[in-house]
Amino acid sequence: MLIDRFGRVATDLRISLTDLCSLRCTYCMPAEGLDWLTKAQRLSDDEFVRLGRIFVDLGVTSMRLTGGEPLVHPTLPDVIARLGALEPRPEISLTTNGVTLAQHAEALAAAGLTRINVSVDTLDRERFAKITRRDRLPQVLAGVAAASAAGLHPVKINAVLVRDDNLHEAPELIAWALRNGYRLRFIEHMPLDADHTWTRDEMVTADEIVAIVEEQYTLRAVDRRGHAPAEEFEVVAGPDQASWAEPVGRLGIIASVTRPFCRDCDRLRLTADGQLRTCLFAQSETDLRGPLRAGASDAELAELITAAVADKQEGHGIGTAGFVQPIRTMSAIGG
Ligand code: SAM
Repeated sequence: MLIDRFGRVATDLRISLTDLCSLRCTYCMPAEGLDWLTKAQRLSDDEFVRLGRIFVDLGVTSMRLTGGEPLVHPTLPDVIARLGALEPRPEISLTTNGVTLAQHAEALAAAGLTRINVSVDTLDRERFAKITRRDRLPQVLAGVAAASAAGLHPVKINAVLVRDDNLHEAPELIAWALRNGYRLRFIEHMPLDADHTWTRDEMVTADEIVAIVEEQYTLRAVDRRGHAPAEEFEVVAGPDQASWAEPVGRLGIIASVTRPFCRDCDRLRLTADGQLRTCLFAQSETDLRGPLRAGASDAELAELITAAVADKQEGHGIGTAGFVQPIRTMSAIGG
C-alpha cells in the first residue's frame, strides 16, 4: 500500500505518455512550444508498462493517460491494452484535447479504455483558435461525438474558464453538454502556465462560476465526492430543459485553488521522462528512469516509490507565503 505520513493512500496514477502536444493553449504553453524531450529521454512503452505493473502491485487501481497530448503517442491503443492487462486490472482513462479522437475513438474503446475526458474550452471557432492557437474546433467536436458513439460513456468535458476569453460562454457550454449527454466540468485556472502570468486576483473562482451558471440554471449540490477532484452538482432546471439528453444533468467544478482537496488526494504523477511527482505543485521529483535504466530490480523501484509517497507534501500551498510555482508547466507534468 502507498501511504503517506498524513494517512492518505495513493491509488490513482496519472501517466504523461508524451510532453508533445498538438495545441498551444495560452494558459498552458507558450506559442513557440517548449523544449521537447528527446525520444531517448521519454520512457519507452516497455518502461511505462513495467513501472505500471510495479504501481499496481503497490495498490494503484486506476491510471489516467495524459500528456502533452496522449493521442500524439503512436502506440496509444497498445499501451492501453498492455496496462489494462495488468493484474488486478486497473481502470484506464484518458485525458485528451480530442484533435484526432474521431480517427481513434473506436480503437481506444476496443483496447479497453474505460473513460475519457476531452478538453473543450469554447464552442466558438474563432475563440478556440485564439485560446489554443490552432484552428481545430470542428475536429475536436467530431472527436467528442465519436467517443460517445464508441460507447465511452459518460464523455467528460474539461473546460478552463479564463476571464477575458470564455467566462461568458459557461452557460452555452452547459447547454451543449446537457443536450448531448456529456458531463461538463469547469476547472479553476491554476498557476501552472508557461509565462508565469497567473494571478489569484485574475483567476475565475468556483464561486464566480456557480453564480454565473445560476443566472440560468438551478443547481443542487451532490453530497459526497470521495477522492474525486470535482464537486458535483445536479442541474435540475434550466432554460432549454426539454432538449436535455437526461432529465437531470450533471455539472462538476474542480476548485483546486479556492477549495483545495489535498486532504483527500489519492493521486500520483509519472512524467514522460520517468519522474514521479506526488503533487502537481511539488518542487521535487523522484527519478525512476535513471535507476530503471541502470538495472534496478522491481523491489528497488518499489522502494523508491514507497519512500517518495511517504514524503508527499501536505497540500499544494497556493496562496501561502512560501508558495513557488513549479518550473514544469501543466503540459510537462501531465494534467
Ligand atoms: N492534451 C490533453 C488535454 O488537452 O486534455 C491532456 C493534457 S492537458 C495539460 C490536461 C488538462 O489540463 C486540460 O484539460 C487542460 O485544459 C488543463 N490545464 C492545462 N493548463 C492548466 C492550468 N494552468 N490550469 C488548469 N488547468 C489546466
